[in-house]
Amino acid sequence: MSNTADVIIIGAGVQGASLAFHLAKRGAKVIVLEKKFIAAGATGRSSGLVRMHYDVKQDSELAWVSFQYFRNWKEMVGGDAGFTRTGFIQLVAHDDVEKLKANVAMHQRIGIPSMLIKADDVKRLAPSFVTDDIEFAAYEPESGYAMPSDTANAFINAAKEKGARIVQDCAVTGILGDSKIKGVQTTQGDFFAPVVVNAAGAWAGKLNEMAGLDLPYDTWRHDTMFVARPSQIGPSHPTVIDFAHEMYFRPEGNLTLVGLEDGNPLGESPDSDTDHAKKGFVERGIDRICRRIPIMENGALHSAHGGYDGITPDQHPMIGAAGPDGFYLNCGHSGTGFKTAPAVGLCISELILDGKFKTIDLSIYQPQRFAEGKQIIGEHPYSSIWR
Ligand SMILES: Cc1cc2nc3c(=O)[nH]c(=O)nc-3n(C[C@H](O)[C@H](O)[C@H](O)COP(=O)(O)OP(=O)(O)OC[C@H]3O[C@@H](n4cnc5c(N)ncnc54)[C@H](O)[C@@H]3O)c2cc1C
Repeated sequence: MSNTADVIIIGAGVQGASLAFHLAKRGAKVIVLEKKFIAAGATGRSSGLVRMHYDVKQDSELAWVSFQYFRNWKEMVGGDAGFTRTGFIQLVAHDDVEKLKANVAMHQRIGIPSMLIKADDVKRLAPSFVTDDIEFAAYEPESGYAMPSDTANAFINAAKEKGARIVQDCAVTGILGDSKIKGVQTTQGDFFAPVVVNAAGAWAGKLNEMAGLDLPYDTWRHDTMFVARPSQIGPSHPTVIDFAHEMYFRPEGNLTLVGLEDGNPLGESPDSDTDHAKKGFVERGIDRICRRIPIMENGALHSAHGGYDGITPDQHPMIGAAGPDGFYLNCGHSGTGFKTAPAVGLCISELILDGKFKTIDLSIYQPQRFAEGKQIIGEHPYSSIWR
């Protein structure tokens, strides 16, 4: 098999997989190199929330374009991403209500089905929730969650059908070329292409260094747990981000997945144990979910584990060309890059093949912004971010 391509993608997470699909669809010869297996990194651990509520316009636009893929997956990609519509509720702390209103207005201007609702509406949507602390919430009736590993595999399968090659168990160990990219060195020999894309998630910092780049890049750990839901809650509940309690949760069958916004360590090795959650996480998670859904006290812990993503100082991805000619970054998705992957892959395929972004201008995510003293921040930013 040929080791030469138009584009080499490092990493078969959902981001590398989406880009491979979009490039192959346009006729480019693509090789994806993956050190383990498809969705072995953050993607395989992702909670899979699919919602459009953000405080940065481009994030919402990416999520909205991506949403068209999730809800029309079979026609647009093929296979199944496992999208389940549950409705999505965004809850915020009292101090952030004006920001919530401004952000919903921004979403509506984009065309996203999003509306402001009040506490009694939340109660109607989710009778088991405590709503005393809620004045307003944002509601996206169309949103929900999808299956991240299935999503990445569906993208890879579709890319393969269009001629892409995926090489698993193949770690990139070096970048070939000085001022101009020639290819990569790997544990399975050298591969050649004039374009190389770093989509290596939590490991991407190491590859940036191999390409001679000095960029602020860290790892971010995030634990999640599944709780067997007591039957009193009913067959399901909406997907929720609850900034007031610094957590999010969503249903999956008769389980509820819970993640916390705080206590997510930075700077650990992404090769650390992810089969178990960190000490104390489950206790904190149970305390939080029971504050919003007291009857959850009758639930039972099903399982808990962790995952690692790449994170940047403004908690937004690095997307675009950087370093040697032909080297591109698609990394640093900072704990929120599952739902946006379909559109990010589309836009980067445009940048590589057409020389510019067409569907959405992603230039705000350019990797050089930190050196220029710029950070991405929404017009009405929430105070609650990963900690
Ligand atoms: C627990 C958890 C929950 C999350 N929940 C959500 C959510 O609900 N919604 C959402 O939108 N986002 C969520 N995220 C974030 C989202 O999952 C990630 O942003 C996204 O999956 C990143 O995809 P990726 O392809 O960039 O990285 P990854 O999925 O990490 O893929 C990178 C791949 O690169 C490979 N690799 C690394 N180094 C090399 C090398 N040298 N050579 C070859 N291959 C290499 C790795 O093995 C890996 O498979 C969550 C993340 C975590 C950890």
